Amino acid sequence: MSVNDPDLAKPAPSGQAAAAPRRDLSQPLPPGSRIGILGSGQLGRMAALAAARLGYRCHAYGPEANAPANQVCDAATVAAYDDVEALKRFAAAVDVVTFEFENIPLATVEVLEALVPLRPGTRVLSICQHRLREKDFCRSVSVPTADYRPARDAEELVEAFAAIGRPCILKSAELGYDGKGQVRIHPDSDLDEAWAAMRGHAAAAVGIVEAVVEFRMEISVIVARGSDGAMRTYVPVENRHRNHILDETIVPANLSQDLSDKAEAIARHLAQEMGLVGLLAVEMFVTHDGKVLVNEMAPRPHNSGHWSLDACVTSQFEQFIRAVAGLPLGATERLCDAVMKNLLGDEVDDWRKILSDPGSKLHLYGKASARPGRKMGHVTRLIRR
Ligand code: AMP
Repeated sequence: MSVNDPDLAKPAPSGQAAAAPRRDLSQPLPPGSRIGILGSGQLGRMAALAAARLGYRCHAYGPEANAPANQVCDAATVAAYDDVEALKRFAAAVDVVTFEFENIPLATVEVLEALVPLRPGTRVLSICQHRLREKDFCRSVSVPTADYRPARDAEELVEAFAAIGRPCILKSAELGYDGKGQVRIHPDSDLDEAWAAMRGHAAAAVGIVEAVVEFRMEISVIVARGSDGAMRTYVPVENRHRNHILDETIVPANLSQDLSDKAEAIARHLAQEMGLVGLLAVEMFVTHDGKVLVNEMAPRPHNSGHWSLDACVTSQFEQFIRAVAGLPLGATERLCDAVMKNLLGDEVDDWRKILSDPGSKLHLYGKASARPGRKMGHVTRLIRR
């Protein structure tokens, strides 16, 4: 474990975490309070920068040294998610804990939640980190998704394929992002091979079989919900992917008012029904016949909300911190239209060119090596009329 702040690096005298009183979050966290962030990637980095502007001190926790968030946080713990002693010390050092990605083991957050307030809570995390629970949750609150069936074993897999038909998509229920753990099943695909490929992904045992949606557009809506139940949404945006990775976000999505309202209403309904305190990004498909189907949810800032840093009154990162700290939510009005482009792999080498364009805002994440497809930064082009 390494910690930037020398005071925090010292173990408590008993060898246990110091017994700090559990923070009462019925009042907003005052400036100077410490916000713990599980995960130390670029989302944590941009959240920590927003928190610093509001006077908070952030403490990142993750397994990677010199990670994007660690470079800008007041303190950083470099430790595994199952290191209980490190988790206890982390809990003792912060006033509230949140997370910047949802693939945090539930056992980790359960250790923390017993010691320090966690926002959003374990239930929200548990729903959003598991595709089957996520879709079951949507169904339970009458939110439409692609038709799907669980595939917990080979027998259920056969039943699922029979019910959904082909083509369809077999996805691992856990640890899937950017298309990882997904297999498209065509009429001539071999089911055993598909099952083996899906299970080979992070030892995934449970699958979900989804109908292929012939969508007109992929969109997302980000909704914030405060501890008082107040909600604010950002305008629906269009997301264009390349090799399953988000390439560009177009702000706003070119939708009728009716579809835009429908998408925002779905996001609000999900946040409300989940009892969310924090941020929820809802990815959806818009079909040719005007349906809006939920694909995925993320209970944290989202890549498709990065444009808000430069084109909104309150960015998604500030809004996230406001919700976690119990502050009033900020205005989500858009100041101008925008296009956000991810800088993947060596696209980041264009930084000089991007900086010479007066209408573009560059954000780099401080990552040392530009592996192909790795999110190194993004650029937001502001469209002022
Ligand atoms: P996901 O990891 O679920 O976000 O999927 C990655 C990408 O695969 C999505 O952004 C879509 O482009 C595509 N995709 C996922 N599920 C479906 C589906 N049921 N029908 C059609 N395309 C899908």
